[in-house]
Amino acid sequence: MEQFDVVVLGAGSGGYACALRAAQLGLGVALVEKGKLGGTCLHVGCIPTKALLHAAEVADLARESAQFGVRASLDGIDMAGVNGYKDGVVDRLFKGLTGLIQGRGITVVEGEGRLTGPGTVEVGGTTYTGRNVVLATGSYARSLPGLDVDGERVITSEQALRLDRVPGSAIVLGGGVIGCEFASVWRSFGAEVTIVEALPRLLPPEDESSSKSLERAFRKRGIKAMTGTSFQSIELHEDGVRVTVQPGSGAATTLEADVLLVAVGRGPVTEGLGYDEQGIAMDRGFVLTDDRMHTNVDGVYAVGDIVPGLQLAHRGFQQGIFVAEEIAGLAPPSFDESGIPRVTYCDPEVASVGLTEAQARERYGEVETLTYDLGGNGKSQILKTQGAVKLVRSKGGPVVGVHLVGARVGELVGEAQLIVNWDAHPEDVAPLVHAHPTQNEALGEAHLALAGKPLHAHT
Ligand code: FAD
Repeated sequence: MEQFDVVVLGAGSGGYACALRAAQLGLGVALVEKGKLGGTCLHVGCIPTKALLHAAEVADLARESAQFGVRASLDGIDMAGVNGYKDGVVDRLFKGLTGLIQGRGITVVEGEGRLTGPGTVEVGGTTYTGRNVVLATGSYARSLPGLDVDGERVITSEQALRLDRVPGSAIVLGGGVIGCEFASVWRSFGAEVTIVEALPRLLPPEDESSSKSLERAFRKRGIKAMTGTSFQSIELHEDGVRVTVQPGSGAATTLEADVLLVAVGRGPVTEGLGYDEQGIAMDRGFVLTDDRMHTNVDGVYAVGDIVPGLQLAHRGFQQGIFVAEEIAGLAPPSFDESGIPRVTYCDPEVASVGLTEAQARERYGEVETLTYDLGGNGKSQILKTQGAVKLVRSKGGPVVGVHLVGARVGELVGEAQLIVNWDAHPEDVAPLVHAHPTQNEALGEAHLALAGKPLHAHT
């Protein structure tokens, strides 16, 4: 039996962030991982998908170079080359992370762990005891009843990341973040893509205006989006799939494609790990915590995708750091989930922080909104991107939501989140100088306009 201050089960974004911070605070830490340090985000999530999206951007730039007066042509996509580039990025980050974890003196335990008591985790017959245990076992790609993933023609994001070819055509089931990102990559690589989404719009949790802009942009790019349409059945054939879908009204339709990507959400990895037996309160497999990330069992915390809420790596990092500080007795301030920035890295990007207009109306009653079109932003014109900055403010109060659509706008969400999380009023932001010509300027201009002194805006 080995004893620690903290035993962390799962070394993804939430778990390893917790381990790193706990070790930094002088606590003795064991980090149990059955796969690779870094978890979903590093190996089959954020990082490899964003590398693919960057390769997709390069393909688009080559294809569309003539509009910038540059003579280049796109000869084709070498998936072995794309995968080599993607895997190289992941490998370098993995080495860096491994070194960091070793350097902090964390005991890494390789193998599948199981919670066997409030303070004990068993791995391959050895029991690791912790004054505190942090559950961070992450998530897996869900499917639908009657839809079996065979890894060849019916795939999840994990297999999509390993494809050694560009599919000629793809049906993407689910118009959420992961679905929209793969649709974007494959279209840039030359595939015919149809997204099927059961809810009435793409990226349903985003502000309705962002969904509409994205749908327009996707349409222009030749990505077909069937919203309000649900999956009915699938038939596999030698060359691909035949999928029957049911639109909200009218007759069922059958679509054909080389592959079907199932991107209908991610479920928590909590089954069979001893959580139930130890009396951890759960809801549909998710681990319930209070606002200190504490479960109902003394000394047991949970972080990341197994906790209901946004399934994002940076939320996991923050929760992991928070728990380490909580265990160390630093009493960190709790944080509001609506202040967590969200980015979908398709082309165009969609980014946001805070409340949508509908949520703000529900919370505050009266709200003011302002939409600044990127048409008035020099840098966006240079990039030839379209989109907008939308601000939502409680009447006469602070900015409570920022919604962005356009190429590269994910990088603007850094300033947007400071504005929302620091409860800034448009009048506070208006005097701050934004460099010209940047896309950041669009944020500055939007706040100038909302403060009643628009510069390059017709209001
Ligand atoms: P995970 O990263 O899933 O880590 C859990 C770890 O626990 C895994 O390594 C697993 O092997 C291990 N584990 C599980 N059970 C056991 C056990 N019994 N014993 C030992 N080890 C165990 N988020 C973003 O913020 N930005 C993005 O751009 C983004 N893109 C994404 C793209 C895709 C395709 C996917 C799938 C996800 C993406 N995400 C993104 C989400 C992000 O990856 C997750 O929110 C994040 O990884 C969650 O961290 P976690 O620590 O909760 O779980």
